[in-house]
Amino acid sequence: MQDVLKALGMSDSNRGGFSGEWIGSGKAQAVVSPIDGAKLADVVNVTPAEFEAVLARCHAAFASWKLVPAPKRGEVVRALGDELRRHKEALGMLVSLEMGKALREGLGEVQEMIDICDFAVGLSRQLYGLTMPSERRQHRLQEQWHPLGVVGVITAFNFPVAVWSWNTALALVCGDTVLWKPSSKTPLTAIACTRIAEKVLRDFGYDPAICSLVIGKGSEIGDLINTDPRVALVSYTGSVPGGRHVGKLVQERFGRHILELGGNGAVIVSEKGDLEIALRSIYFGAIGTSGQRCTSTRRVIVHESIYPAFRDRLLDLYRKTPIGDPRQDENLMGPLVDQGAVETMLAAIETVKAQGGKVLFGGEKLPPTSGLTGGCYITPCLAEVSGNLPIVKEETFAPVLYLMTYRTIEEAIALQNGVSQGLSSAIITNDQRESELFLSAAGSDCGLANVNTGTSGAEIGGAFGGEKETGGGRESGSDAWKAYMRRQTSAINFSGQVELAQGITLEL
Ligand code: NAD
Repeated sequence: MQDVLKALGMSDSNRGGFSGEWIGSGKAQAVVSPIDGAKLADVVNVTPAEFEAVLARCHAAFASWKLVPAPKRGEVVRALGDELRRHKEALGMLVSLEMGKALREGLGEVQEMIDICDFAVGLSRQLYGLTMPSERRQHRLQEQWHPLGVVGVITAFNFPVAVWSWNTALALVCGDTVLWKPSSKTPLTAIACTRIAEKVLRDFGYDPAICSLVIGKGSEIGDLINTDPRVALVSYTGSVPGGRHVGKLVQERFGRHILELGGNGAVIVSEKGDLEIALRSIYFGAIGTSGQRCTSTRRVIVHESIYPAFRDRLLDLYRKTPIGDPRQDENLMGPLVDQGAVETMLAAIETVKAQGGKVLFGGEKLPPTSGLTGGCYITPCLAEVSGNLPIVKEETFAPVLYLMTYRTIEEAIALQNGVSQGLSSAIITNDQRESELFLSAAGSDCGLANVNTGTSGAEIGGAFGGEKETGGGRESGSDAWKAYMRRQTSAINFSGQVELAQGITLEL
């Protein structure tokens, strides 16, 4: 652990606030690894007064950063990507240690950060505005995009570094400054990333407060972000109830928000699909990151004609799931993030049973006698249900997978859409009519709809986000950058005369 912290410029005790200098004199918090319960390091939270100082500096930094030409801002993001490449091993390991995900997924998460930096560098020369034909003679109509202000980035524990980078790489090239409030479950990775950004900004001679950090309780520090008009955009990733709260507060002051909330991913498995592809995609989608992805597969809707064969094959994979230290390559599943997550999963399983579902496998805590310490290890659960039971409609943020059957493709799509979340969905089929129907307006109502690949594992090139209670926000690729800028439409008159739109005349 010491080597990892040292490689990232950290120590046993770290301050949780940054805006050009490291501060923090609030509550000290011991960060414990879900892998084995070992203490990783201490983090000292910021106080409300320190929050104010950090936000004031981050806000002041915007005044000069917004004037730097966008391609020059892109050079900073390129250097950030290079620095992340240099720290990939250490940062990936810290993600695994702090959050508990498999090391290969931790490294993948850092790779995703590098990828979004590459994307943003190109974007820094492509922040295009449109020109439109004016209805008036010798007039030109155009729109351009300007920097927005401070972007408050509030992140969930499960992608402790990638979500910051999705927001930050775009925000930086867009000319915004960033105020990050990470999950209190994963503060160390946030400090590590902020140190990396600090070095890059200092190397270029820019104000390091451009990438600021505040670690503290969501209900206290988070609410200060939600309610402060100096934060132009709040990009919030977290649960649906959290997003509902944040959305209301930000809307009340007419701030902007991007809400990236809970999912309830489903895969439709057609009898015309490839069973091997279905099994692999669903298995990874359900147990990857121990079921703690917003895009995790939580429901499988299988054609009744192939259901028994599919169920038995999947059950076989579940029985053989190697569970253990996520740093070891042979383990496909590591621990859940903490004891609370284990208890939530156990409670959900009891509710499934009470609502008439049948548990086929799993949901057993692995005791320390199994050689696994830390108490957060549990077997993944597979349950058979008759459609969207009330508990199935909820997002249980753990490896619980519900199997249900369908007869017609329309029925399958109705089941897929029959929940309040709308993030990720997939169909496994080789029938083009089915896949096109699934992708059509009559098909999946989710922000992500895949064919012959599972629900989890989105690429940075596309816009990421979902509908309904998932919040409607979009981050990452495509034109998601537009949310980080303000649009300005201009009419420019070079006629030498005054002409009003809509043919209105005004005789003087
Ligand atoms: P959470 O809602 O418990 O916490 C998310 C963040 O909100 C944390 O940083 C927390 O400190 C902060 N917070 C708490 N109270 C706040 C307040 N009053 N104001 C502002 N911020 C506050 O979520 P979690 O357990 O960390 O993460 C799991 C959830 O996140 C799941 O529902 C998952 O689906 C969702 N998630 C969604 C996406 C997506 O892109 N749609 C991605 C990852 C995770």
